[in-house]
Amino acid sequence: MLSKYEVVIGLEVHVQLTTDTKIFCGCSTRFGSDPNSQTCPVCLGLPGALPVLNRRAVENAIKTGLATHCTIAPRSIFARKNYFYPDLPKGYQISQFELPVCEHGHLEIETEEGGPKTIGITRAHLEEDAGKLIHGDTPDTTGHSFVDLNRACTPLLEIVSEPDMRSSDEAIAYLKKLHQIVIYLGVCDGNMEQGSFRCDANISVRPWGQKELGTRAELKNINSFRFIKQAIEYEVERQVELIEEGGKVVQETRLFDSATGITRSMRGKEEAHDYRYFPDPDLVPLVISEEWIEKVRKTLPELPAAKLERFVREYGIPRYDAEVLTADRAMAEFYDRCVALHGDGKTCSNWVMGDLQRRLNDEGVSISESPISPEMLVGVLKRIDDNTISGKIAKTVFDEMWSSRKDADTIIEEKGLKQVTDTGAIEAIIDEILAANQGQVEEYRGGKEKVFGFFVGQVMKASRGKANPAAVNELLKNKLKA
Ligand code: ADP
Ligand code: MG
Ligand code: ZN
Repeated sequence: MLSKYEVVIGLEVHVQLTTDTKIFCGCSTRFGSDPNSQTCPVCLGLPGALPVLNRRAVENAIKTGLATHCTIAPRSIFARKNYFYPDLPKGYQISQFELPVCEHGHLEIETEEGGPKTIGITRAHLEEDAGKLIHGDTPDTTGHSFVDLNRACTPLLEIVSEPDMRSSDEAIAYLKKLHQIVIYLGVCDGNMEQGSFRCDANISVRPWGQKELGTRAELKNINSFRFIKQAIEYEVERQVELIEEGGKVVQETRLFDSATGITRSMRGKEEAHDYRYFPDPDLVPLVISEEWIEKVRKTLPELPAAKLERFVREYGIPRYDAEVLTADRAMAEFYDRCVALHGDGKTCSNWVMGDLQRRLNDEGVSISESPISPEMLVGVLKRIDDNTISGKIAKTVFDEMWSSRKDADTIIEEKGLKQVTDTGAIEAIIDEILAANQGQVEEYRGGKEKVFGFFVGQVMKASRGKANPAAVNELLKNKLKA
Protein backbone atom coordinates (compact mmCIF):
# COMPACT_ATOMS: atom_id res chain seq x y z
CA MET A 1 0.00 0.00 0.00
CA LEU A 2 2.78 2.39 1.01
CA SER A 3 4.47 1.82 -2.34
CA LYS A 4 1.57 3.45 -4.23
CA TYR A 5 2.42 6.80 -2.68
CA GLU A 6 5.28 9.22 -2.83
CA VAL A 7 6.30 10.79 0.48
CA VAL A 8 7.02 14.53 0.59
CA ILE A 9 8.77 16.16 3.53
CA GLY A 10 9.77 19.75 4.28
CA LEU A 11 11.55 20.67 7.52
CA GLU A 12 11.63 23.76 9.70
CA VAL A 13 14.63 23.70 12.03
CA HIS A 14 15.07 26.02 14.97
CA VAL A 15 18.71 26.58 15.73
CA GLN A 16 19.52 28.30 18.99
CA LEU A 17 22.46 30.60 18.35
CA THR A 18 25.43 30.58 20.71
CA THR A 19 25.55 34.19 21.77
CA ASP A 20 26.44 35.09 25.36
CA THR A 21 23.49 37.43 25.60
CA LYS A 22 19.93 37.43 24.29
CA ILE A 23 18.93 38.72 20.87
CA PHE A 24 17.28 41.98 21.98
CA CYS A 25 18.68 42.59 25.49
CA GLY A 26 21.85 42.05 27.54
CA CYS A 27 20.60 39.13 29.67
CA SER A 28 22.67 35.95 29.74
CA THR A 29 21.57 32.97 27.64
CA ARG A 30 23.13 30.40 30.00
CA PHE A 31 21.13 27.17 30.31
CA GLY A 32 20.00 25.72 33.63
CA SER A 33 20.00 28.79 35.92
CA ASP A 34 17.34 29.49 38.54
CA PRO A 35 13.99 30.35 36.96
CA ASN A 36 13.61 34.01 35.94
CA SER A 37 17.10 34.90 37.17
CA GLN A 38 18.14 36.00 33.66
CA THR A 39 15.50 38.55 32.80
CA CYS A 40 15.12 42.32 32.41
CA PRO A 41 12.39 44.75 31.36
CA VAL A 42 12.98 43.95 27.67
CA CYS A 43 12.65 40.18 27.83
CA LEU A 44 9.90 40.44 30.44
CA GLY A 45 7.97 42.54 27.96
CA LEU A 46 7.47 45.47 30.33
CA PRO A 47 5.85 48.53 28.75
CA GLY A 48 8.26 51.06 27.30
CA ALA A 49 11.29 48.75 27.17
CA LEU A 50 12.94 48.81 23.76
CA PRO A 51 14.74 45.96 21.96
CA VAL A 52 18.27 46.38 20.59
CA LEU A 53 19.51 43.83 18.06
CA ASN A 54 22.50 41.67 19.04
CA ARG A 55 25.22 41.98 16.39
CA ARG A 56 26.63 38.52 17.17
CA ALA A 57 23.29 36.89 16.42
CA VAL A 58 23.31 38.56 13.01
CA GLU A 59 26.87 37.35 12.36
CA ASN A 60 25.85 33.82 13.23
CA ALA A 61 22.94 34.07 10.81
CA ILE A 62 25.27 35.32 8.07
CA LYS A 63 27.71 32.46 8.74
CA THR A 64 24.96 29.87 8.53
CA GLY A 65 23.53 31.48 5.41
CA LEU A 66 26.91 31.46 3.68
CA ALA A 67 27.61 27.84 4.66
CA THR A 68 24.25 26.77 3.22
CA HIS A 69 24.69 28.75 -0.02
CA CYS A 70 22.01 31.32 0.78
CA THR A 71 21.79 34.86 -0.47
CA ILE A 72 22.25 37.29 2.43
CA ALA A 73 19.64 40.02 2.23
CA PRO A 74 21.18 43.52 2.14
CA ARG A 75 18.10 44.72 4.02
CA SER A 76 15.74 42.63 6.14
CA ILE A 77 12.87 43.50 8.42
CA PHE A 78 11.75 42.37 11.87
CA ALA A 79 8.06 41.69 12.27
CA ARG A 80 5.69 41.04 15.13
CA LYS A 81 4.02 37.65 15.13
CA ASN A 82 1.00 38.07 17.38
CA TYR A 83 -0.44 35.30 19.51
CA PHE A 84 -1.32 34.75 23.11
CA TYR A 85 0.44 32.22 25.28
CA PRO A 86 1.60 32.56 28.90
CA ASP A 87 5.27 32.02 27.97
CA LEU A 88 5.20 35.00 25.60
CA PRO A 89 5.12 38.12 27.80
CA LYS A 90 4.76 40.75 25.07
CA GLY A 91 1.85 38.97 23.38
CA TYR A 92 3.92 38.83 20.20
CA GLN A 93 7.15 37.22 19.11
CA ILE A 94 9.70 39.28 17.21
CA SER A 95 10.50 37.35 14.06
CA GLN A 96 11.07 38.00 10.37
CA PHE A 97 8.31 37.53 7.85
CA GLU A 98 8.43 39.12 4.44
CA LEU A 99 12.11 39.95 4.27
CA PRO A 100 14.21 37.26 6.03
CA VAL A 101 17.96 37.61 6.45
CA CYS A 102 18.81 34.53 4.30
CA GLU A 103 17.09 33.07 1.22
CA HIS A 104 17.50 30.58 -1.63
CA GLY A 105 20.12 28.22 -0.25
CA HIS A 106 20.71 24.51 -0.49
CA LEU A 107 22.46 21.56 1.12
CA GLU A 108 23.77 18.39 -0.42
CA ILE A 109 22.96 15.06 1.22
CA GLU A 110 23.95 11.47 0.47
CA THR A 111 20.92 9.28 -0.26
CA GLU A 112 20.52 5.64 0.73
CA GLU A 113 20.47 4.51 -2.90
CA GLY A 114 23.82 6.23 -3.14
CA GLY A 115 24.59 9.45 -4.89
CA PRO A 116 24.15 13.02 -3.78
CA LYS A 117 20.91 14.97 -3.75
CA THR A 118 20.35 18.68 -3.33
CA ILE A 119 17.79 19.88 -0.80
CA GLY A 120 16.62 23.45 -1.25
CA ILE A 121 16.57 25.91 1.62
CA THR A 122 13.75 28.39 1.19
CA ARG A 123 14.79 30.85 3.84
CA ALA A 124 16.37 31.35 7.24
CA HIS A 125 15.16 34.06 9.55
CA LEU A 126 16.14 35.46 12.93
CA GLU A 127 13.67 35.46 15.79
CA GLU A 128 13.44 35.37 19.56
CA ASP A 129 12.53 32.26 21.53
CA ALA A 130 9.64 32.14 24.01
CA GLY A 131 9.94 31.27 27.71
CA LYS A 132 9.09 27.90 29.20
CA LEU A 133 6.06 26.64 31.06
CA ILE A 134 6.73 24.13 33.80
CA HIS A 135 3.71 22.10 34.81
CA GLY A 136 3.59 21.17 38.48
CA ASP A 137 3.75 17.47 39.20
CA THR A 138 4.06 17.28 42.99
CA PRO A 139 1.04 17.07 45.32
CA ASP A 140 1.47 20.77 46.18
CA THR A 141 1.88 22.01 42.66
CA THR A 142 -0.22 19.71 40.57
CA GLY A 143 -2.74 21.69 38.53
CA HIS A 144 -0.49 24.74 38.58
CA SER A 145 1.87 25.94 35.90
CA PHE A 146 4.97 28.01 36.35
CA VAL A 147 6.51 30.47 33.93
CA ASP A 148 10.29 30.66 33.48
CA LEU A 149 11.37 33.49 31.20
CA ASN A 150 15.12 32.77 31.14
CA ARG A 151 14.76 31.42 27.63
CA ALA A 152 12.52 34.26 26.46
CA CYS A 153 14.34 36.37 23.91
CA THR A 154 17.21 33.96 23.23
CA PRO A 155 18.24 34.10 19.57
CA LEU A 156 16.96 31.52 17.11
CA LEU A 157 17.60 31.05 13.45
CA GLU A 158 14.70 29.22 11.81
CA ILE A 159 15.85 27.39 8.70
CA VAL A 160 13.02 26.37 6.37
CA SER A 161 13.60 23.76 3.68
CA GLU A 162 11.81 23.22 0.40
CA PRO A 163 9.54 20.14 0.35
CA ASP A 164 12.39 18.22 -1.31
CA MET A 165 12.81 15.14 0.88
CA ARG A 166 11.21 11.87 -0.18
CA SER A 167 11.77 9.55 2.80
CA SER A 168 12.48 9.61 6.51
CA ASP A 169 16.07 8.64 5.71
CA GLU A 170 16.51 11.69 3.50
CA ALA A 171 15.00 13.87 6.20
CA ILE A 172 17.44 12.50 8.77
CA ALA A 173 20.38 12.86 6.37
CA TYR A 174 19.43 16.52 5.84
CA LEU A 175 19.05 17.18 9.57
CA LYS A 176 22.34 15.51 10.44
CA LYS A 177 24.10 17.52 7.76
CA LEU A 178 22.63 20.77 9.01
CA HIS A 179 23.40 19.80 12.62
CA GLN A 180 27.02 19.06 11.71
CA ILE A 181 27.38 22.37 9.87
CA VAL A 182 26.04 24.59 12.65
CA ILE A 183 28.32 22.86 15.14
CA TYR A 184 31.33 23.26 12.83
CA LEU A 185 30.47 26.92 12.42
CA GLY A 186 30.20 27.27 16.19
CA VAL A 187 26.85 29.07 15.79
CA CYS A 188 24.96 26.42 17.81
CA ASP A 189 25.97 23.92 20.48
CA GLY A 190 23.78 21.29 18.78
CA ASN A 191 22.39 20.01 22.08
CA MET A 192 19.07 18.48 21.05
CA GLU A 193 18.04 17.39 24.54
CA GLN A 194 18.26 20.96 25.79
CA GLY A 195 16.38 22.10 22.70
CA SER A 196 19.23 23.96 21.00
CA PHE A 197 18.40 22.22 17.71
CA ARG A 198 14.77 21.24 17.19
CA CYS A 199 12.64 20.41 14.24
CA ASP A 200 9.09 20.66 12.90
CA ALA A 201 8.38 18.15 10.14
CA ASN A 202 5.82 18.83 7.40
CA ILE A 203 4.65 15.63 5.79
CA SER A 204 2.34 14.76 2.94
CA VAL A 205 1.84 11.87 0.53
CA ARG A 206 0.62 11.80 -3.07
CA PRO A 207 0.03 9.05 -5.63
CA TRP A 208 3.13 8.55 -7.79
CA GLY A 209 3.03 10.79 -10.82
CA GLN A 210 0.71 13.40 -9.30
CA LYS A 211 2.09 16.91 -9.75
CA GLU A 212 0.39 18.80 -6.95
CA LEU A 213 1.53 18.23 -3.41
CA GLY A 214 -0.79 16.38 -1.05
CA THR A 215 -2.25 18.05 2.02
CA ARG A 216 0.35 18.21 4.77
CA ALA A 217 0.36 17.66 8.47
CA GLU A 218 2.93 19.48 10.57
CA LEU A 219 4.61 17.62 13.44
CA LYS A 220 5.83 20.01 16.11
CA ASN A 221 9.04 20.20 18.09
CA ILE A 222 10.68 16.83 17.95
CA ASN A 223 14.01 16.68 19.72
CA SER A 224 15.94 13.61 18.61
CA PHE A 225 16.88 12.09 15.27
CA ARG A 226 15.36 8.78 16.32
CA PHE A 227 12.03 10.35 17.25
CA ILE A 228 11.90 12.35 14.03
CA LYS A 229 12.34 9.17 12.01
CA GLN A 230 9.69 7.38 14.07
CA ALA A 231 7.27 10.28 13.85
CA ILE A 232 7.62 10.61 10.07
CA GLU A 233 7.16 6.90 9.51
CA TYR A 234 4.08 6.76 11.71
CA GLU A 235 2.60 9.82 10.03
CA VAL A 236 3.17 8.49 6.49
CA GLU A 237 1.43 5.25 7.36
CA ARG A 238 -1.46 7.10 8.97
CA GLN A 239 -1.99 9.29 5.93
CA VAL A 240 -1.80 6.41 3.46
CA GLU A 241 -4.27 4.33 5.46
CA LEU A 242 -6.62 7.26 5.72
CA ILE A 243 -6.58 7.85 1.97
CA GLU A 244 -6.93 4.15 1.17
CA GLU A 245 -10.01 4.02 3.37
CA GLY A 246 -11.52 6.82 1.30
CA GLY A 247 -10.72 9.57 3.79
CA LYS A 248 -8.90 12.87 3.29
CA VAL A 249 -5.85 14.20 5.06
CA VAL A 250 -6.68 17.50 6.71
CA GLN A 251 -4.15 20.25 7.16
CA GLU A 252 -3.33 20.35 10.83
CA THR A 253 -0.66 20.53 13.47
CA ARG A 254 0.07 17.26 15.21
CA LEU A 255 2.13 16.29 18.23
CA PHE A 256 4.38 13.26 18.38
CA ASP A 257 4.19 11.28 21.60
CA SER A 258 7.56 9.58 22.06
CA ALA A 259 6.18 7.25 24.73
CA THR A 260 3.66 5.64 22.37
CA GLY A 261 5.28 6.43 19.02
CA ILE A 262 2.10 7.92 17.57
CA THR A 263 1.05 11.41 16.47
CA ARG A 264 -2.19 13.08 17.47
CA SER A 265 -3.98 16.20 16.38
CA MET A 266 -3.20 19.41 18.28
CA ARG A 267 -5.08 21.92 16.19
CA GLY A 268 -6.66 22.00 12.73
CA LYS A 269 -6.52 24.63 10.02
CA GLU A 270 -9.70 26.27 11.34
CA GLU A 271 -8.11 26.82 14.73
CA ALA A 272 -4.80 27.86 13.17
CA HIS A 273 -3.54 31.19 14.44
CA ASP A 274 -3.89 34.30 12.40
CA TYR A 275 -0.64 35.88 13.45
CA ARG A 276 -1.43 39.33 12.04
CA TYR A 277 2.23 39.89 11.14
CA PHE A 278 3.32 43.48 10.81
CA PRO A 279 6.72 45.24 10.82
CA ASP A 280 7.99 45.92 14.34
CA PRO A 281 8.09 49.72 14.72
CA ASP A 282 10.65 49.40 17.56
CA LEU A 283 13.38 48.00 15.32
CA VAL A 284 15.03 49.62 12.34
CA PRO A 285 15.57 47.53 9.20
CA LEU A 286 18.61 45.26 9.44
CA VAL A 287 21.13 46.47 6.87
CA ILE A 288 24.00 44.15 5.98
CA SER A 289 26.75 45.58 3.81
CA GLU A 290 28.81 43.67 1.27
CA GLU A 291 31.91 44.43 3.40
CA TRP A 292 30.34 42.91 6.48
CA ILE A 293 29.43 39.75 4.59
CA GLU A 294 32.98 39.46 3.24
CA LYS A 295 34.43 39.99 6.69
CA VAL A 296 32.27 37.19 8.06
CA ARG A 297 33.08 34.95 5.09
CA LYS A 298 36.78 35.19 6.00
CA THR A 299 36.04 33.76 9.45
CA LEU A 300 34.29 30.63 8.14
CA PRO A 301 36.09 27.44 9.13
CA GLU A 302 36.74 24.68 6.62
CA LEU A 303 33.39 22.86 6.41
CA PRO A 304 32.99 19.10 6.83
CA ALA A 305 32.53 18.30 3.12
CA ALA A 306 35.67 20.23 2.14
CA LYS A 307 37.64 18.71 5.00
CA LEU A 308 36.60 15.22 3.96
CA GLU A 309 37.78 15.79 0.38
CA ARG A 310 41.05 17.24 1.57
CA PHE A 311 41.78 14.29 3.89
CA VAL A 312 41.19 11.85 1.05
CA ARG A 313 43.19 13.88 -1.46
CA GLU A 314 46.13 15.04 0.66
CA TYR A 315 46.45 12.32 3.27
CA GLY A 316 45.51 9.40 1.02
CA ILE A 317 43.14 7.82 3.54
CA PRO A 318 40.03 5.81 2.57
CA ARG A 319 36.76 7.76 2.23
CA TYR A 320 35.33 5.81 5.10
CA ASP A 321 38.10 6.99 7.44
CA ALA A 322 37.66 10.57 6.28
CA GLU A 323 33.93 10.40 6.95
CA VAL A 324 34.39 9.09 10.48
CA LEU A 325 37.11 11.63 11.25
CA THR A 326 35.20 14.65 9.93
CA ALA A 327 31.89 13.74 11.57
CA ASP A 328 33.08 15.75 14.55
CA ARG A 329 35.06 18.96 14.15
CA ALA A 330 37.22 18.46 17.23
CA MET A 331 38.07 14.93 16.07
CA ALA A 332 39.00 16.21 12.61
CA GLU A 333 41.25 18.89 14.07
CA PHE A 334 42.91 16.38 16.40
CA TYR A 335 43.63 14.11 13.44
CA ASP A 336 44.84 16.97 11.26
CA ARG A 337 47.35 17.95 13.94
CA CYS A 338 48.57 14.33 14.25
CA VAL A 339 49.27 14.13 10.53
CA ALA A 340 51.07 17.47 10.61
CA LEU A 341 53.35 16.12 13.35
CA HIS A 342 53.79 12.59 12.05
CA GLY A 343 53.40 12.66 8.29
CA ASP A 344 51.57 9.44 7.55
CA GLY A 345 47.81 9.83 7.12
CA LYS A 346 46.85 6.17 7.42
CA THR A 347 48.98 5.42 10.50
CA CYS A 348 47.37 8.40 12.23
CA SER A 349 43.81 7.53 11.17
CA ASN A 350 44.30 3.96 12.43
CA TRP A 351 45.29 5.20 15.86
CA VAL A 352 42.81 8.05 16.14
CA MET A 353 39.83 6.01 14.92
CA GLY A 354 41.02 2.85 16.63
CA ASP A 355 42.71 2.94 20.03
CA LEU A 356 41.96 6.55 20.83
CA GLN A 357 38.30 6.63 19.82
CA ARG A 358 37.65 3.27 21.48
CA ARG A 359 39.14 4.51 24.73
CA LEU A 360 37.21 7.80 24.56
CA ASN A 361 33.95 5.88 24.01
CA ASP A 362 34.68 3.43 26.81
CA GLU A 363 35.37 6.21 29.26
CA GLY A 364 32.62 8.49 27.97
CA VAL A 365 35.12 11.29 27.37
CA SER A 366 34.89 13.70 24.44
CA ILE A 367 37.93 14.28 22.26
CA SER A 368 38.32 17.85 23.48
CA GLU A 369 38.84 16.44 26.98
CA SER A 370 41.19 13.67 25.86
CA PRO A 371 44.09 13.20 28.31
CA ILE A 372 46.21 12.27 25.30
CA SER A 373 47.08 15.18 23.01
CA PRO A 374 48.10 14.87 19.34
CA GLU A 375 51.69 15.59 20.43
CA MET A 376 51.59 12.72 22.93
CA LEU A 377 50.02 10.26 20.50
CA VAL A 378 52.54 11.05 17.79
CA GLY A 379 55.27 10.63 20.43
CA VAL A 380 54.27 6.95 20.63
CA LEU A 381 54.07 6.55 16.86
CA LYS A 382 57.58 7.93 16.42
CA ARG A 383 58.98 5.35 18.80
CA ILE A 384 57.36 2.61 16.71
CA ASP A 385 58.83 4.13 13.56
CA ASP A 386 62.38 4.17 14.93
CA ASN A 387 62.03 0.63 16.31
CA THR A 388 62.34 1.66 19.94
CA ILE A 389 59.13 -0.26 20.67
CA SER A 390 56.96 -2.72 18.78
CA GLY A 391 53.36 -2.00 17.76
CA LYS A 392 52.23 -4.27 20.56
CA ILE A 393 54.22 -2.52 23.28
CA ALA A 394 52.89 0.76 21.86
CA LYS A 395 49.44 -0.26 23.11
CA THR A 396 50.89 -0.67 26.61
CA VAL A 397 52.51 2.76 26.35
CA PHE A 398 49.20 4.20 25.12
CA ASP A 399 47.28 2.78 28.10
CA GLU A 400 49.89 4.02 30.53
CA MET A 401 49.81 7.43 28.85
CA TRP A 402 46.04 7.64 29.23
CA SER A 403 46.25 7.25 33.00
CA SER A 404 49.56 8.93 33.84
CA ARG A 405 49.59 11.65 31.13
CA LYS A 406 53.33 11.19 30.82
CA ASP A 407 54.99 11.35 27.41
CA ALA A 408 56.03 8.24 25.50
CA ASP A 409 59.76 8.50 26.17
CA THR A 410 59.27 8.87 29.91
CA ILE A 411 56.97 5.84 30.02
CA ILE A 412 59.31 3.70 27.89
CA GLU A 413 62.21 4.68 30.12
CA GLU A 414 60.43 4.23 33.46
CA LYS A 415 58.82 0.90 32.58
CA GLY A 416 61.86 -0.44 30.73
CA LEU A 417 59.84 -1.07 27.59
CA LYS A 418 62.60 -0.42 25.13
CA GLN A 419 62.67 -3.02 22.42
CA VAL A 420 65.63 -5.41 22.45
CA THR A 421 67.30 -5.23 19.04
CA ASP A 422 70.67 -6.37 20.30
CA THR A 423 71.02 -9.69 18.50
CA GLY A 424 73.35 -11.11 21.16
CA ALA A 425 70.70 -10.70 23.85
CA ILE A 426 67.96 -12.18 21.67
CA GLU A 427 70.19 -15.09 20.67
CA ALA A 428 70.82 -15.90 24.30
CA ILE A 429 67.05 -16.12 24.92
CA ILE A 430 66.54 -18.26 21.83
CA ASP A 431 69.25 -20.67 22.91
CA GLU A 432 67.59 -21.09 26.28
CA ILE A 433 64.16 -21.70 24.75
CA LEU A 434 65.45 -24.21 22.23
CA ALA A 435 67.41 -26.08 24.92
CA ALA A 436 64.33 -26.31 27.11
CA ASN A 437 62.10 -27.56 24.29
CA GLN A 438 64.13 -30.22 22.51
CA GLY A 439 61.02 -32.21 21.60
CA GLN A 440 59.51 -29.35 19.63
CA VAL A 441 62.87 -28.68 17.95
CA GLU A 442 62.86 -32.27 16.62
CA GLU A 443 59.28 -31.89 15.45
CA TYR A 444 60.13 -28.72 13.57
CA ARG A 445 63.17 -30.23 11.94
CA GLY A 446 61.05 -33.23 11.05
CA GLY A 447 58.86 -30.95 8.92
CA LYS A 448 56.20 -29.72 11.36
CA GLU A 449 56.59 -26.03 10.53
CA LYS A 450 53.67 -24.92 12.63
CA VAL A 451 55.87 -25.25 15.71
CA PHE A 452 57.69 -22.11 14.58
CA GLY A 453 54.93 -19.95 15.99
CA PHE A 454 55.33 -21.65 19.35
CA PHE A 455 59.01 -20.69 19.50
CA VAL A 456 58.30 -17.08 18.53
CA GLY A 457 55.68 -16.92 21.28
CA GLN A 458 58.09 -18.34 23.88
CA VAL A 459 60.88 -15.94 22.97
CA MET A 460 58.55 -12.93 23.04
CA LYS A 461 57.20 -14.05 26.37
CA ALA A 462 60.67 -14.52 27.83
CA SER A 463 61.62 -11.01 26.66
CA ARG A 464 58.36 -9.64 28.09
CA GLY A 465 57.35 -8.51 24.63
CA LYS A 466 60.41 -6.39 24.14
CA ALA A 467 62.33 -8.44 21.60
CA ASN A 468 62.19 -6.98 18.12
CA PRO A 469 59.83 -9.40 16.29
CA ALA A 470 61.66 -9.19 12.97
CA ALA A 471 64.98 -10.00 14.63
CA VAL A 472 63.41 -12.89 16.55
CA ASN A 473 62.05 -14.41 13.33
CA GLU A 474 65.32 -14.08 11.53
CA LEU A 475 67.49 -15.47 14.31
CA LEU A 476 65.10 -18.33 15.09
CA LYS A 477 65.04 -19.45 11.46
CA ASN A 478 68.83 -19.59 11.36
CA LYS A 479 69.15 -21.46 14.65
CA LEU A 480 66.52 -24.01 13.75
CA LYS A 481 68.22 -24.73 10.43
CA ALA A 482 71.32 -25.96 12.15
P1 ADP B 1 3.97 27.45 7.65
O1 ADP B 1 4.60 28.77 7.82
O2 ADP B 1 2.53 27.43 7.83
O3 ADP B 1 4.60 26.38 8.47
P2 ADP B 1 5.24 27.18 5.01
O4 ADP B 1 4.59 27.38 3.70
O5 ADP B 1 6.25 28.16 5.43
O6 ADP B 1 4.12 27.03 6.11
O7 ADP B 1 5.90 25.75 4.95
C1 ADP B 1 6.56 25.21 5.99
C2 ADP B 1 7.28 23.95 5.58
O8 ADP B 1 6.36 23.01 5.02
C3 ADP B 1 8.36 24.12 4.53
O9 ADP B 1 9.50 23.41 4.97
C4 ADP B 1 7.79 23.47 3.28
O10 ADP B 1 8.79 22.88 2.51
C5 ADP B 1 6.88 22.43 3.86
N1 ADP B 1 5.74 22.08 3.00
C6 ADP B 1 4.88 22.91 2.42
N2 ADP B 1 3.92 22.21 1.76
C7 ADP B 1 4.19 20.90 1.97
C8 ADP B 1 3.55 19.68 1.56
N3 ADP B 1 2.43 19.67 0.84
N4 ADP B 1 4.09 18.52 1.97
C9 ADP B 1 5.20 18.51 2.73
N5 ADP B 1 5.84 19.61 3.13
C10 ADP B 1 5.34 20.80 2.76
MG1 MG C 1 5.47 25.82 10.12
ZN1 ZN D 1 16.55 40.61 29.20
